[in-house]
Amino acid sequence: MKTCYFDYNATAPLRPEARDAWLSATEDLWLNPSSPYRAAARVHAHLAEARARVAGLFAVAAERVVFNSGATEANNAIFAHWAATLPADASIGVSPTEHPSVLAAAQHFFGERVTWLALNGNGAVDVAALKNVLCERQLAAVSAMAANNETGILNDWTAIATACRTQGVMTHCDASQWIGKLPLDGLRSYDFVTGAAHKFGGPKGVGLCLLPAENSGFMSLKGGYQEFGYRAGTEDVAGILAMVAALEVAQLGSADGRDAFLLKLRQALPSVEVIGMEAERLWNTALLIMPEFASVRWIRALEKRGFLVSAGSACSTGKQGPSPVLAAMGVPAAAMQRVLRVSSGWATSVADWLALAAAIAECDSELSCESADSNSTVISI
Ligand code: PLP
Repeated sequence: MKTCYFDYNATAPLRPEARDAWLSATEDLWLNPSSPYRAAARVHAHLAEARARVAGLFAVAAERVVFNSGATEANNAIFAHWAATLPADASIGVSPTEHPSVLAAAQHFFGERVTWLALNGNGAVDVAALKNVLCERQLAAVSAMAANNETGILNDWTAIATACRTQGVMTHCDASQWIGKLPLDGLRSYDFVTGAAHKFGGPKGVGLCLLPAENSGFMSLKGGYQEFGYRAGTEDVAGILAMVAALEVAQLGSADGRDAFLLKLRQALPSVEVIGMEAERLWNTALLIMPEFASVRWIRALEKRGFLVSAGSACSTGKQGPSPVLAAMGVPAAAMQRVLRVSSGWATSVADWLALAAAIAECDSELSCESADSNSTVISI
């Protein structure tokens, strides 16, 4: 049975270009790039070239690009840096729909000094409300993601960056779900930008962070002088080259498949709700509230047919209570039990999307029969 993967927001399969770059670097560029001999200087040159290619894509100076292990590390490091360098009573603004790696780091380092940013009716940061807060309160920094991993809802991050810059407020944008899906133009207007290779077809455990143009005293890991002293640790050159290869071929996608899926799905199951239907969303994501049956039953029934979908953030599945993102958007607790997230990527076709719609309709019949059977069993006992 063919597996149809619909959980790209959790992680994407490795792109062939990334695999080729990784294999060739693993064979050929395995020396420590900081070693003193010429052969290692060649590895260092590849690393520098990879940094220049990333800098070119974001249109920033190469010194702003730091390679690391991914977005969780970078998000934590930024809040740790702010906690260490901002005044002891400084408050920061954070969107309540951030990824757990931002929410937890913000709470850990700033506790009561976090101001939760208001959302608009579409579940994005309310820019007008943010402007008011920036005028009224002394926020020292603001963190707002580019695109949400659960709902796909996009923040108006250009307006957020402009509003903060006008007030001289430091900014961070977790762009993990944006990078590789939508144009990178403009992200450089944030002081800090974080991203993860495995979200766009690069390897896991590799990521990137853009730092402020001026030296900020940022230090993510202490130790050796790798990454200009911003992040100690021997660089994973093969992983970094694979990440850059994936980023360079990342196509800007189209919503055609997702929208055809939604049309077909709602013909079969008209009472399926789509979170953020009216909002600007990632082209690859649909967060559904199913009319009946718990998420886990849908996930299992779909997996039996070869479709892998999720119930929201992979980081929270089975480990935490209801999604803080959906709670912040006012989704009722009962509805959260019936959520399905489907997200596509570079290897998904429109035919895959249509097959998923058909499979969901089949699962609905199967789950309804199961429920009818279990009800009749209860009666007969
Ligand atoms: N931020 C967002 C928006 C994400 O979707 C993820 C992935 O789960 C992360 C951060 C964490 O990324 P990583 O897996 O690189 O730690």
